[in-house]
Amino acid sequence: MTLNIAIIGAGIAGITAARTLANAGHHVQVFEKSRGPGGRMSTRESNFGTFDHGAQYFTVRDPRFSLAIQAVPGTTDICRPWSANAVRVLDPLGHVFEAARASKEAHFVAKPGMNALVRHWAEPLGKAIHNNTKITRLERGAKGLWTLHTDNHTFAGFDHVLLAIPSVQAANLLKASGKEAADAHWLKAMGAVDVAPCWTMMVAFPNATQPNLHIGPQWNAARSIHHRIAWLARESSKPGRGKVERWTVQASAAWSAEHINDTDSRVQAKLLRAFAELTGIRAEPAHTQVHRWLYAKTITPLGVSHQYNPANGLGTCGDWHLGHRVEDAFVSGLELALAVCQSAKRL
Ligand code: FAD
Repeated sequence: MTLNIAIIGAGIAGITAARTLANAGHHVQVFEKSRGPGGRMSTRESNFGTFDHGAQYFTVRDPRFSLAIQAVPGTTDICRPWSANAVRVLDPLGHVFEAARASKEAHFVAKPGMNALVRHWAEPLGKAIHNNTKITRLERGAKGLWTLHTDNHTFAGFDHVLLAIPSVQAANLLKASGKEAADAHWLKAMGAVDVAPCWTMMVAFPNATQPNLHIGPQWNAARSIHHRIAWLARESSKPGRGKVERWTVQASAAWSAEHINDTDSRVQAKLLRAFAELTGIRAEPAHTQVHRWLYAKTITPLGVSHQYNPANGLGTCGDWHLGHRVEDAFVSGLELALAVCQSAKRL
């Protein structure tokens, strides 16, 4: 049976599910609250170049993820290796606390920005993706079909609705959608999922790109045990990013949680100070911006790749089912879509 399927969320999980279901012949529409696909594989523009202010790189451990990268035309040109495996660990004064270990595992980034992979995979879906469309409620009608509500619009006639959004947002959407959607068993399990926030800072030093002028450390990426900062990466070291000296800095999960309600300017001042301590770069950046991710890194996952109820057509997927990585989100979206395909064959 061919199904009419709504997918909420155009991150890698939602787009993987959408492509798999569309390739199997189902009618798919994707609803995304932001301006375009990508989700937390995101790229922020600035006058000095882009910043990957969400996912920094991704691994390719699952053979199905590897196959998708090889098989979808144009994807191998977008996914480029990046030397994040030279990562070292810094102490709070910026000294190398643990030397870089050569990892056998390749690390990849999408080129020219992290959102390029999801955008490329989303392209064939064309007008089936509704950007700037935040779904606020679901409603199941008498014939068993679902209607999706935004603040001022409805989209009706779906056999299935798949939520490819972070766990807290998925739980809130199910709760807002009445008894039919608010499965107590699911909500209890989702309540145990723990996802840490992350304050991220983006800084640019265009003057440092003048010939013979080099500021900052020799390394391009580092983890740190500084209480404020957990990760730093030189954007300009990634393939296809342009030469202007730019850094993306991620605060630690504990510090981010402690400062979750601080103002941008307060967070910026504190992170800049810690950045200077770790890198030795004390110059005033020409561009500084911070971003607060409320749901950044899964600490405790659900433990199964997806949730799916063929009886009412609801499903959930996303990284938080399995872990905190891009490829966890890919596997989750893929396995939910395959479960829907199996069930549709039996109808
Ligand atoms: P998302 O990418 O979050 O996609 C969900 C989408 O749903 C979003 O686009 C959102 O706008 C949309 N949405 C939400 N609610 C609604 C609604 N009501 N209506 C419509 N749309 C909605 N992973 C790695 O592998 N390596 C890393 O180095 C790494 N670093 C990270 C650093 C940071 C700061 C962050 C935030 C994440 C990092 N990750 C990393 C994790 C990785 O980004 C995620 O695992 C992956 O992108 C999650 O994909 P997803 O599709 O499950 O969810």
